[in-house]
Amino acid sequence: MPYKKIYLDYAATPPVAPEVIETLITHFRATDSFANPSSIQHGFGETAQSLVENARQQIATHLNCNAKDLIFTSGATEANNFVLKNVATRFKEFGQHLITSATEHKSVLDCCRFLETQGFQVTYLKPDNSGLINLEELADSITENTLLVSIMHVNNETGVIQPIEKIAEITQQRGVLFHVDASQSVGKLEINLAKIPISFLSFSAHKFYGVKGIGGVFARNCAKLKLPPLIHGGGQENGLRSGTLPTHQILAMATALELAYQNQTNDYQHAITLKQRLLSHLQELEGITLNGSQTATLPNIVNLSFEGVSADSLIIALRDDVAIASGSACNSGAMEASYVLRAMGIEGEQLYGAVRLSFGRYTTLEDMDYAAQRLCEEVTRLRQFTKN
Ligand code: PMP
Repeated sequence: MPYKKIYLDYAATPPVAPEVIETLITHFRATDSFANPSSIQHGFGETAQSLVENARQQIATHLNCNAKDLIFTSGATEANNFVLKNVATRFKEFGQHLITSATEHKSVLDCCRFLETQGFQVTYLKPDNSGLINLEELADSITENTLLVSIMHVNNETGVIQPIEKIAEITQQRGVLFHVDASQSVGKLEINLAKIPISFLSFSAHKFYGVKGIGGVFARNCAKLKLPPLIHGGGQENGLRSGTLPTHQILAMATALELAYQNQTNDYQHAITLKQRLLSHLQELEGITLNGSQTATLPNIVNLSFEGVSADSLIIALRDDVAIASGSACNSGAMEASYVLRAMGIEGEQLYGAVRLSFGRYTTLEDMDYAAQRLCEEVTRLRQFTKN
């Protein structure tokens, strides 16, 4: 087999779309839009500002929300920190209880842990074996003291989709705020903020083929909330997040989102085809378990365990030609067993053998054939190794 290098870690970050690179280059080369978008005393600054505001409007149109309710951040980690910490602090007189799930991204869970040290109580809902939280349990957990529910849309390790529309109905009925970490779903699934009563939504450009270091947060009726600033300084983003706006990154994010919407159906279908191709190759192996719901899931993330094979040894065996991961990128350095799968009640071999394959727009069927064949080879080799 000719040697290749295949990248199957799109959930950590996919390659930047060529059209996004084009936007960046065009912007960098332009001689009239490089100015500080806050320097509106002159035409250069005004041009930069209008580009930024057009991009904000473009993003708002896709999410069907008011552009004034969008705040640019460095990504979803910052957006999640903003919502969890600043909103909780701002409204603590209305309640000091938060509800989240045990399978959230660390940027939500660690904020919750921090808030616990500040006197807040947090309920961590445990999902079932398929990764889905129980909505009755969620509703039952809401008390008079509950301020905010924070549940992610799509899980970054399993691809499992939580029913955010139903959760939003519950939170609206019960009068509590609802935050959605939509890092893995924006651009992949329809999110209509005019229809779904979500209070806050976090997103990150590099998850939808944009560049790293830019993202945002939607905060419904932002001006009325009178939230404390995330970063103090020059007063950008209506005083909520000071710092010179990175025009190039914001324009690149708008292009990436535009593309994601244009390609949404094709990207989705392509991911299904790739997943089917992968699974059909893997049929030649026995002892495979797919982790997480296979119905409420995005097709571009496949989490699976190979009986008798540890994730570490498989990842290392494939390291030179097929890039796969054992969990979220933020944790994979430590090669620890996934807390997400553990929370789903997965244990033993299935837990320690779990790997994540994630792919997308630029993954070809040939890439998948090669990767699947290499997976089969290495799983067979490692199984023989452990038998002897
Ligand atoms: N939430 C989820 C679900 C994610 O997958 C990620 C990225 N791994 C983040 C938050 C953090 O996003 P960012 O890299 O933009 O800080």
